[in-house]
Order: sequence, then structure tokens, then C-alpha cells
Amino acid sequence: MNINSPITELDGVGTKRAELYKKLKIYTVGDLLRHYPRGYIDYSKPVEISAAVMNEHNIIRARVVKKQPAARIRQGLVLYKITVTDDSDNMTIVLYNNRFAYEGLTEGEEYIFSGKVGGNLVRREMNTPMFIKASDPHKLRPVYSLTEGLTSNMVITNVSQALNNVDESAFADHIPDFILRKYSVAAFDYSLRNIHFPDDSDIAAIAKKRLAFDELLSLRLGMLLMKNHSKTQTGFKMKYDDGIVAEFQRELPFELTGAQVNASQEVIRDMCRDYPMNRLVQGDVGSGKTAVAAAAALFAYKNGCQTALMAPTEILAKQHFKTLTDLLSPHGVRVCCLTGSMGAKERRIIEEQIAGGEFDVITGTHALISQSTEFNRLGLVIMDEQHRFGVNQRARLAEKGENPHRLVMSATPIPRTLALIIYGDLDISVLNELPKGRRTIETFAVTEKLRSRACGFVKKQLDEGRQAYVVCPMVEENGSELASAKSYAEKLSSGDFKGYEVGILHGKMSPSEKDETMLRFKSGEIRLLVATTVVEVGVDVPNATVIMIENAERFGLSQLHQLRGRVGRGQHQSYCILIAGTINDEIRERLKIMTETSDGFKISEFDLKMRGAGDFFGERQHGLPEMRFADAATDSELLADVQNAADDIINASSDLNEFPLLKNDIEKMFSSETAFN
Ligand code: ADP
Ligand code: MG
Repeated sequence: MNINSPITELDGVGTKRAELYKKLKIYTVGDLLRHYPRGYIDYSKPVEISAAVMNEHNIIRARVVKKQPAARIRQGLVLYKITVTDDSDNMTIVLYNNRFAYEGLTEGEEYIFSGKVGGNLVRREMNTPMFIKASDPHKLRPVYSLTEGLTSNMVITNVSQALNNVDESAFADHIPDFILRKYSVAAFDYSLRNIHFPDDSDIAAIAKKRLAFDELLSLRLGMLLMKNHSKTQTGFKMKYDDGIVAEFQRELPFELTGAQVNASQEVIRDMCRDYPMNRLVQGDVGSGKTAVAAAAALFAYKNGCQTALMAPTEILAKQHFKTLTDLLSPHGVRVCCLTGSMGAKERRIIEEQIAGGEFDVITGTHALISQSTEFNRLGLVIMDEQHRFGVNQRARLAEKGENPHRLVMSATPIPRTLALIIYGDLDISVLNELPKGRRTIETFAVTEKLRSRACGFVKKQLDEGRQAYVVCPMVEENGSELASAKSYAEKLSSGDFKGYEVGILHGKMSPSEKDETMLRFKSGEIRLLVATTVVEVGVDVPNATVIMIENAERFGLSQLHQLRGRVGRGQHQSYCILIAGTINDEIRERLKIMTETSDGFKISEFDLKMRGAGDFFGERQHGLPEMRFADAATDSELLADVQNAADDIINASSDLNEFPLLKNDIEKMFSSETAFN
């Protein structure tokens, strides 16, 4: 049997079970071998019955003392009760309709059970547990994604037979030997066997790391190939002008930072090449990414091209409209704004003007990519806070012109190793310097006990003429965001903040309602803005000096850092108060980082160390092929290895023709993501 053999060649897989496997998209033996476990049950560390945590999942090693006869409760429901003991106490195992499991238990024999312990302290019970014989040497059991009718044991049996009978084609290593040795990566043969049936969790981790390495390497190589491919396209080659940044500076109310000047120069140089720019500007909150975008737009304007700037929300689109008008109108640049909430007539007029070339810079939301919008020599496309856009949207905006230059601005500073993998198709500029005179935002982490003192502090700021944000408690899964935001805002405005104008901002509001609220907050009419995380990105209100965040423990650090970046944008000292709803050592350590550093890159580096790369991949998830192993297991070291390995491979064979298996993997990975690029 080989990887392409139909699944029915395995013992016990007839047409009925094959139908079940089909639901999981498993058709061949190879598919089954790539149906990796979701996790493992570790039977190696049982606890005593008397020490089991009630209503939690426990592993218990116990001897069967008595099997009560089957009891027919009602039509179609047979109950089996088995008493087990481990000398610390007794426990009842309860099985429903599972004669097979019941018969698998023998009086006098010892087993290890895995399941939730319920009942009460006097009569403990475990319903429908999984179990193995205590003498079984394989203490780590895979848990697979299943479908109704298919059990874990069936999959285990089938996978095990497949591993033993499939020919060597299943174990061929797609990664060249010299890479495996150089980066101490486990062989594929070893990893495939041990991802399914590891002897212990260390071995499982080695296998998992190898599979994560595979995914990341294919991703990185695919991105590199794509990047090379885009160099064969013809773009709007612009005419280099080394005075453009100085010209831009002359009309600015502030002095550009060195980092802003460098990034602007890099962008301008990119736009003077034969092929289109594909650049990411990464910078901490408040590092002034918008000014770099404006410099690029000015350069495009000087070269007779339009620029489109797409923002993820109406609030941000309008904010950019205002900022770019301020920065660029002294140069004669005509700026407009196009959003989804415009009236049809107004929109038609603006669209005509855009198509007629009466505007040079068009800011907007995804209204920009709608069918009806036509541009006039669109030479530059800028995307702000890029992770909010799907890759389709990115591609569609680019299609509006003929290979326009592309500039992406990311809100989340991420470590370089990770950026190279996730944004591997882009060149990267980093704004690693904040504008002069920025004061650090004083940050405090407190528990709920200190909430009223925190509110007192916020009130004091309001009394001094400043404004404040309060980020709502996070709703429980089944609660409604709307209801809880409203009731929380009411509580504040009738309690601690009685007499102050309190506004509310949440995701269920229409864009125009959100806009109106933001405008009232910007104008100073609203003093305290109660908001869900919709304020997270980009919003700029310099008079707001304090942000209080409820349930801070439930946010990722990078997200907290983004939220904190809403304050500290004006000349006043600003503050951030993190209120933790629950507290433990890990939460304490995480929140402490926030109070100790204001460097977004350091914060995300720490996040990567503590929680792995999963969240970061999630942020750009639309743009990336699906990752199965590149998650919490992925650390900086692995990312750096992958990046070096990709370079080694490209150096050995720039088109990958020497590594056909690997090349095939990459093509498969990227073809399932057809909209990619
Ligand atoms: P972000 O990188 O978070 O998008 P913005 O572009 O919104 O940052 O800039 C944040 C604030 O800093 C704005 O109010 C902007 O006018 C101001 N700013 C930008 N560059 C400078 C600078 N070089 N010196 C002083 N202020 C600046
Ligand atoms: Mg911004």
C-alpha cells in the first residue's frame, strides 16, 4: 500500500467507515497519515481518587472491584456502573450504551481512566471516561478530530496499520539532508511516526517542532519566490528626486524623526525602480507612520500619479483625510474621502471627480475597492493597519491600477524574526524612534479592589480639562457586547462619573453613529468615552490623557499596548490604568511588563516568548495559508532557523528545481490560498 491507496485498503474500513472519513476529507492512506492528532491524553501522571479535583478533568489509576449488571433505564438507554478503587477511595465509572467498553473492563484488573470527575466528596463518579490498561506501555494517546460514528480508537487502529504497511513513499523527507543536520531538525520518518504515537511528551514536542519547521519553511520559501516573481512585473517607474523629503519637511508643523526620514527615503527609492514597490512600514504606536505615507503620496503626486489610502474603519479614514489634507494641501495636493456611509448622489459626484483626475489623494474605507470606483493613473496604494484587511481586498485595490506601488502600514510592532515570516513578501522599514519630547505613559496595574481609587484619579484628570477612555469589561461568550457596554456605561455615568458627559462606542453601532460619537469626543463635548476594543487602532485625540482598561488580563500584551497608545498623543503627561479581574502569577508577570516598558517591539517579543506565535499568525490570517503547527510551539529561535534555512535553500537552488518534493509542497500550500497576493 502507498500514500495514494484508497482508505478502504485498511482492515476494518468498508464503505461505511470510508463515508465517515470522507467527511473529514480523508480519502487515501496518505490523507489519513496527515490527519494529525489535535492533542494527547497523557495517562502517565494519575492522581489519587481522594485528590481528584471535582468537576475537572482528571487522570485516575484504579482497580475494578465490581461490575454491576447492565441496567436498562428506558427504551434505548442502557446504563453500566463499575466500582473502582485505588485504596485512597472508591469511585463509580458510569457508561451509557457502551457495552464494548464495559466488556473491556475485567474485575481485579488495573486501568487508567481519563475523564471529568463529578458526584460529591462522598460518592465520586466519572462519566464515559477514556481508559487504557495500566500495564499498557503507551501512556500518551493521540486525540483526533472525529465525526459522529467515528471513534478515536478506530482512528488509532487505522493509523497504526497504515504506518506499519505503507511503503517508503510516505516517509520521504522533503527537506534536504544538509538542512536537517545544520538546524538539528528531526527526520520526517521519525516525526510522522511520533506525532501519532509518541512515547512521551518530549518526543511529541520534537515531532511537532519538525512539522512546524516544515510549515514555516514552505511559507517563507513561498513568500521569497513570490517576492522574486513580483520583480518581473513592470510598475510606475518614478523619477528620483533627492530633495523631495526636504520639500515635504518645509511645510510640516514638526521635525521628522531620523527614522521617518529613512523610511521615506526607502519608499521613494523603491518607487524609482522598474518593478512595483511592496513595502511594509512597521512602527510603534505614535511613531508617525502617517507622515511617511504622506511623503510617499507627495512623491507620487509630483510624478503625476494618484494615491489611494485605505483604512479599516470610517473613523480612521476620516482622520487620515484630515491629516493628509493638513500635511499635503500646502503643496497643492487635492485630497478627498470616500466611505460606505456616503449618500449615493454625493458618492457619484466624488467618484466622477476621482475618475476625472480632480483629486490626487483618495482616502477611504473598502468603499475604495467597490466596482464603481475608477481611478486616474493610480500609482500608489497605501493600506493602513493592514491586518484588518483580507488578502482579497488588498489584491482588489491593487487591481484598480496597473501594478501600482504598494505601501502597507502595520499597527502592531512585531519582532523581526516573525515579521520576516509573516510579511516575507514585503520589504520592511522600521520606525524605531518616537518623535522628540514624547513622555512615557505612566502605567499602573491594579486589582478590582482599587477601582474606586482609579476612578478618582480619572476624575481628577477630567477636572483638569483632560479627557479619558474607559475600555469595557469583556463579555462572557454568551453575553451580548451591546448590552454589557450599555449597562456598564450607565453604571459609570450614574455612579462614579455622575455629572460628566459620558459617551459610548461599540462594534454594533453604525459607522455614522461611531463617527458622530468620535467627533463629539474629539471636540471635547464628550469627556469620558466608554468603549469596547473598537478604539484599539489608530484613533488620535491628543487631549485624552488617561485610559482605564477593565479585565486587562484577558487581552494580549500587544493589544494592551495598542489600547494604551490612544493616550500620550498630546503635550500632557498621560496615564494607563490596567484593572485585573483575576490575578495569578502569570497575569502578574504579564501586566508588570506593561508597567515597565513602553517599547512595543519589546512587548511583542515577550508575548512571543510567553504565548508563542499563534496570535500573530491570527492577525494576518486571511493573507496566509493555513498553519497547523506554527502556533504556540513557535519561538524566536525556530523562526530564525527557518529564515536561515530558507536562505540556504535558495542559495543552493534559486528556483528550487533541485528540491522537487519541497517545491511541490510550496505549490500545494499556496494554491489552496488562491487569492494569495
Ligand atoms: P502612528 O504611527 O501610530 O500611525 P501617527 O502617524 O498617527 O502615528 O502620528 C501620531 C501623532 O504624532 C500625530 O498626532 C502626528 O501628528 C504626530 N507626529 C508624527 N510625526 C511627528 C514628529 N516627527 N514630531 C512630532 N510629532 C509627530
Ligand atoms: Mg496610524
